Amino acid sequence: MPNRVLVLGGGVSGFSAVQEFVRSKGKNPDLKITLVDRHRGNLFWPLLPDLISGRIWPENITYPLQPYCRKHGVEYIHAEVKAVFPSQNRVETTAGPLEADYIILCLGCETNYFGNENIKSHAPGLKSLHEGTLIRHQAKEVVANRKKTGDKGLGHIILVGGGYTGFEAASHLAHFLRACTGVPYSQLHTLVDLWIVEKGDKVLGNTSPGVQHWAEHLIGSYGVEVKTNLTAVSFEDDHNVRMSDGSLLHDAMVIWTAGVAPGPVCAALDVPKVHGNRLEVDTYLRVHGIPNLFAAGDLAGAMPPGHQLPLRMAFQFSLAGGRCAAGNVVRTIENRELRIYNPFDVGYVIPLAPGHAIGVILGLEMHGRIPFFLHYAMSVLRSYGWKNKIQILKDLFKEQFG
Ligand SMILES: Cc1cc2nc3c(=O)[nH]c(=O)nc-3n(C[C@H](O)[C@H](O)[C@H](O)COP(=O)(O)OP(=O)(O)OC[C@H]3O[C@@H](n4cnc5c(N)ncnc54)[C@H](O)[C@@H]3O)c2cc1C
Repeated sequence: MPNRVLVLGGGVSGFSAVQEFVRSKGKNPDLKITLVDRHRGNLFWPLLPDLISGRIWPENITYPLQPYCRKHGVEYIHAEVKAVFPSQNRVETTAGPLEADYIILCLGCETNYFGNENIKSHAPGLKSLHEGTLIRHQAKEVVANRKKTGDKGLGHIILVGGGYTGFEAASHLAHFLRACTGVPYSQLHTLVDLWIVEKGDKVLGNTSPGVQHWAEHLIGSYGVEVKTNLTAVSFEDDHNVRMSDGSLLHDAMVIWTAGVAPGPVCAALDVPKVHGNRLEVDTYLRVHGIPNLFAAGDLAGAMPPGHQLPLRMAFQFSLAGGRCAAGNVVRTIENRELRIYNPFDVGYVIPLAPGHAIGVILGLEMHGRIPFFLHYAMSVLRSYGWKNKIQILKDLFKEQFG
């Protein structure tokens, strides 16, 4: 009997789990791997904000799952996962029920609107190709209106949430507006008020004061205003948004980058959760108490030895998590000792579109061009498929020197 493994989600962690199984298949011909995802392509998230400014094109950050799976003997099912029943080794999907001996949950997270349905129906997040393209399209309308009326077409573009994504998206919007209109960054406010608003009293809350200082300084130089202790509360109609200080902003475009959380499939699982509703996992990435259920990536609140808090949501940890979970499934099957999930943290970078970045790399705080180029070098290296890598390089080269 083959060992049936279901990998749910073909994003960063899910795809790296599948690759790990493919690598070990020579030694385990009995493995039957099935990958389920509601999208046909693996999306390279670190370059999604670049879609807004048009630096990168959608097709160059999407890697089709089916051809890879077909080539490596992995079954790929294009379907939405509806529910997971680990005690019955069963998963409900829109393509019907699936059974497995082992399940790896890699479903990632979704934009968290904290239950605010009004905002959800008006403000896109930045969690899909569609949303990236939509934001670019809306920004184009701002420019078109400006050309038509000669004054502020749309009054405000508001990024709600002063985290990494809010900063990145705001910088790409500024870059796009400047490129289309020729209005310098220092005068962008004559075109539109471009704000990052943050409910708390500081932005980039989980970074160091040095990173916060440079991020605010750089984003300010691109014509973006940062406002703390402020958030969007509701849309009064399709264009006017009520803010938490009671003010009404007219002609506002709102982008919700205030946070993410695991989706309904995970929320419905009756297992212990940690901060942010992420699944509690043990040091081998098994969901607590369920020996055949593993979790990796953003939805897993993994706490490697010595950590007091779950690892932050990041590409590097998802990649390592997928590999570790897949390796531990194989070790379980082979009755070998499991490997502890303890990834090395290389640091992080917040790239800002016009050519600067802020971050901490190998413990060193950095800002300016070097982290910016490191981010794009890593992006080219880590994206999948030669065609995508070459196209991304071409896009970047055209942008920087074209
Ligand atoms: C805009 C943006 C920029 C980012 N930039 C960086 C960066 O520069 N550096 C960095 O380290 N990290 C970055 N991240 C974070 C990083 O991308 C995530 O940590 C990583 O993608 C998480 O991997 P994952 O496998 O958990 O989830 P994902 O990669 O999101 O994959 C989840 C997969 O599950 C599928 N799925 C979800 N629900 C279902 C369902 N019910 N049924 C079927 N399929 C489903 C989805 O289609 C998706 O393919 C960024 C994230 C975003 C959103």
